[in-house]
Amino acid sequence: MLVVMRRGATPDEIEAVVSGIEQKGYTARPIPGGERVAICVLHNDGPVDASSFLQLPAVKEAIPVTRPYKLVSRESQAWDTTIDVGGVLIGNAHLTIMAGPCAIENEIQALTIARMVKKTGAHIFRGGAFKPRTSPYAFQGLGEEGLKILARVRLETGMPVVTEAIDHEVFDLVEQYADIVQIGARNMQNFSLLRRAGKSRKPVLLKRGLAATIEEWLMAAEYVMEGGNDKVILCERGVRTFAHHSRNTLDLSAVPVVRQESHLPVIVDPSHAAGFRDQVVPLGRAAVAVGCHGLMVEVHHAPETALSDGPQSLYPAQFSDLCRQIEAIFSVYKTSTNGCRQTGRNVTGSLARNASGKIAGSQNLGQAG
Ligand code: PEP
Ligand code: MN
Repeated sequence: MLVVMRRGATPDEIEAVVSGIEQKGYTARPIPGGERVAICVLHNDGPVDASSFLQLPAVKEAIPVTRPYKLVSRESQAWDTTIDVGGVLIGNAHLTIMAGPCAIENEIQALTIARMVKKTGAHIFRGGAFKPRTSPYAFQGLGEEGLKILARVRLETGMPVVTEAIDHEVFDLVEQYADIVQIGARNMQNFSLLRRAGKSRKPVLLKRGLAATIEEWLMAAEYVMEGGNDKVILCERGVRTFAHHSRNTLDLSAVPVVRQESHLPVIVDPSHAAGFRDQVVPLGRAAVAVGCHGLMVEVHHAPETALSDGPQSLYPAQFSDLCRQIEAIFSVYKTSTNGCRQTGRNVTGSLARNASGKIAGSQNLGQAG
């Protein structure tokens, strides 16, 4: 439930509602808005009786939140979240490009690629220092040395950096260096890692799991927000299907659905979806056309020698072409969607739902704990 305060409600009036909610044994989470504050009720097992809150001064109304992902849902925040990462904005009407190699291999490699991608359109530099590899014999990343190289890239180019925390153990270290902490697809339901990310003050880039439904993905984001970190960026990176012509299948339909369901920014990683560089540019174009808030793209100056994901890494010239093309697509998208503005209407019931109220086609979350 969302308790909506009247415009101009005083801090004392807001506090009275917060303590009223907490006296009932629930958690109260105020959501500051441009015009008025709303207070989201969390940790209620059943329906909440709103009558006692409605009698309090400056309370305008109480609105039920029907989605299981409460803080993530557009029901609790109608407007798009914008996240400021060192002056680079992500979300709402912005198209933000993150680019760089799969893995940081050495300082010269990282700086060479960073200078190239910055010149042609990247806003944020990506690169793994700790790599989640399928094989234990594959390059696992440079670890802390890789993080130090990322810090030098930021110093030299001015670009914020995004890099992955592959487990709870390295989170503290990654958080010290990264501007955005990435949680990889394989960790999307690593709940202790999500809880740790919830305690962080750094923005979190949450990739969609290899076989995760949209509902499961949004619930993973809810873990981070419930923990107190409201700076979550969602990233669609393809899901596992029967197809062999690509590494994964990019689920572009997820983008409009997530934008309708949630106020959080959603970006697309066409590189890990495709697995082959020839598919990355067309998929990147398509992702911008369906309304994503940005792309994460792997680029390497010499992909033949890359220590990981060379076949899907774009040559710098391809990345440059992609940036020019998506600029044009994004301006058409903006014009045709009235400046990317969301209507802010209540989206309840706007998706096909099955009898239990889940988004049609999604799995039942109930048993998952
Ligand atoms: C990555 O971005 O480096 C990565 C490993 O991606 P994913 O978790 O999507 O496989
Ligand atoms: Mn990669």
